[in-house]
Amino acid sequence: MKALSKTLDKIEESPLTRFDSQVKKRKLAGEDIIALNVGQPDFDPPKEIQIAIGRMSVEKGCNFYTPVSGTEEARYAISLYHERMFGVHYDPKSIVLTNGAKEAVALAIGAIVGPGDEAILIAPYWSTYKELVILSGGKPVVVDSKKDSHLDFKRILSAITRKTKAIIINSPNNPSGAVYSKKELARLVNAAVKNDLYIISDEIYNTILSENDYTPCAAIRGAAERTVTINGFSKSASVTGYRLGYAASDNSDIIAGINKIKSNFSGNVNSFFQEVLCEVNINQFDDFKLSIENMKKEFMKRGCYLRDELACLGFECGKLEGSFYVWCKIPEKIKMNSSEFSEHMLGYGVAITPGIFFGESYGDHVRISFAASMKSLEEAIKRMKKALEQ
Ligand code: PLP
Repeated sequence: MKALSKTLDKIEESPLTRFDSQVKKRKLAGEDIIALNVGQPDFDPPKEIQIAIGRMSVEKGCNFYTPVSGTEEARYAISLYHERMFGVHYDPKSIVLTNGAKEAVALAIGAIVGPGDEAILIAPYWSTYKELVILSGGKPVVVDSKKDSHLDFKRILSAITRKTKAIIINSPNNPSGAVYSKKELARLVNAAVKNDLYIISDEIYNTILSENDYTPCAAIRGAAERTVTINGFSKSASVTGYRLGYAASDNSDIIAGINKIKSNFSGNVNSFFQEVLCEVNINQFDDFKLSIENMKKEFMKRGCYLRDELACLGFECGKLEGSFYVWCKIPEKIKMNSSEFSEHMLGYGVAITPGIFFGESYGDHVRISFAASMKSLEEAIKRMKKALEQ
């Protein structure tokens, strides 16, 4: 038979999902593994979502196609939510509801990056960005962050060429947890304006913060017309399986491009959940916000515990700024790279993610999720101590 598309040779399966499938298989086979490799909150969804699901299932017959970008009401609901939560107004016409934030990232990259274009990724980066740029025919240009995981402008500026089309940023960051300051973002926007670049700003973790010092990229002067904001409810409302994300931009050409691709690719997101979004973001907003804030508080308690324990075990941990990961350097005395160390830990029943999945420079790091119960984290630390004694 003829060979399949050559594009398949250029991209890789997400190492995060591949690793997670292996962990799940081993768990199914009976191994006792605490999965701290996944970016998935362990909470039940807020009760406002659960109640809305119940109501919508009996009150509305949402079994038809909706407009590709989502119903007008659902986009209005997201517009309200986004403004009330993060202080940035998007007209409902500037919003596209997507199948998770992942589809929003894919569509934004598809609309902006074409064959021959370069897109700058800030490492450590969520691995999907790289593969999506390649799928779009573009070239990912990886720029490492500073030691503290914040933006390194010397490196960023020297990576910009005539071919650079976009910079993809992710703050709060997966895996490092870095939350870029207003000053950093202003410098980045300034570079984007000077070099006529677009910014794809993935802010999916922006409700999970240790302090309230988060600035949305689009709030920076000069950013709105060249920025696509990516967000969703997977992490904030613990509904990873419902696939509720969105892309928003004041640049109407970008939104038109995203809709053009989406109309051929997947069509509208689940019609049923569009109604749920209206219900929780319009009628139940205050309670919904409180539920999200309560989850944040619990995350931060767990994060502090995990980081302090890891530091006692000799890991060099970054500051806990946002997202639900501890990003840490493996103690030198261990003499294993990130893949070997993760494999070693798996042998002791703890799944953690090798740093190499987030960029070539991070083979000495691991990412450990604290989107797990305190009990699981305490047991994981016990197991890690034992593993490190061997
Ligand atoms: N962006 C980042 C940085 C992520 O870590 C993830 C998921 O892990 C996503 C986007 C995708 O989120 P969703 O589950 O809403 O597609």
